[in-house]
Amino acid sequence: MSKRTVIVTGAARGIGAAIAYKFAALGYNVAINYRTENDAIHALLEKCQSAGDGECALFRADVSKADECKAMVDAVVEKFGGVWALINNAGITRDGLLMRMSEEQFDSVIDGNLKSVFHMTKAVTPIMMKAREGRIISLSSVVGINGNAGQTNYAASKAAIIGFTKSLAKELGSRGITANCIAPGYIETDMTAALSEAARKAMTDVIALRRAGTPQDIANAAAFLASEDASYISGQVLTVDGCMSM
Ligand code: NAP
Repeated sequence: MSKRTVIVTGAARGIGAAIAYKFAALGYNVAINYRTENDAIHALLEKCQSAGDGECALFRADVSKADECKAMVDAVVEKFGGVWALINNAGITRDGLLMRMSEEQFDSVIDGNLKSVFHMTKAVTPIMMKAREGRIISLSSVVGINGNAGQTNYAASKAAIIGFTKSLAKELGSRGITANCIAPGYIETDMTAALSEAARKAMTDVIALRRAGTPQDIANAAAFLASEDASYISGQVLTVDGCMSM
């Protein structure tokens, strides 16, 4: 493997697209995972390809499905020869008060946010263990740390990612693999676009830096955790929220 390869899940838009672009600009090979075929994903591929001197390619998979994760990782290894870092970014919300939350609504968020991390991590760890190096970076949320009314399913999935990551860091440390979480606060993407103006104002009012975060703010943190500079950091949760939830 001449260049290090990074897999970014759910990279079609929002934070994932910014992470894919950041790694491409830094010269990594980038495996851009997407679920839904559309023009935007091809535009992102072009943008990433012209950003750096690594190679970028699209890989379609629904990461809530174990067989699709395994097939995608096999295809990435066949194309690029290995995997240096996995960025578990794909995520969904299906908010609602617990009283009205169906079991299907709960399960779909656990499958989409947590089991996807399990499936993808399981698929890449044999490759990283053999190479005796690697980085696993998973997107949690400040909601997984502090909770949020109307998001019991989402909060449970994001809190579980933290426990998963801390255990993984202990399991894989002796093989030279680090595992960390990023916990974003309020970041402007499609996921938060549905919030009312009042809800956004209420959030920015309690952010010390007085602005919403951008997908680039999260991409910068992911790039740091995947870099050599972060080689002695493992089992940690890096909160990137403009000092909202301290
Ligand atoms: P977003 O704009 O809604 O984008 C989510 C992306 O994930 C979409 O491209 C979506 O693909 C993809 N995805 C979802 N489920 C998938 C699956 N099963 N397989 C493959 N791709 C899948 O969300 P975002 O705001 O960028 O959030 C990215 C991550 O950061 C999530 O894990 C989220 O929970 C976390 N986060 C976000 C915020 C925030 O304020 N935005 C705060 C804290 C944490 P489709 O286009 O096919 O739907």
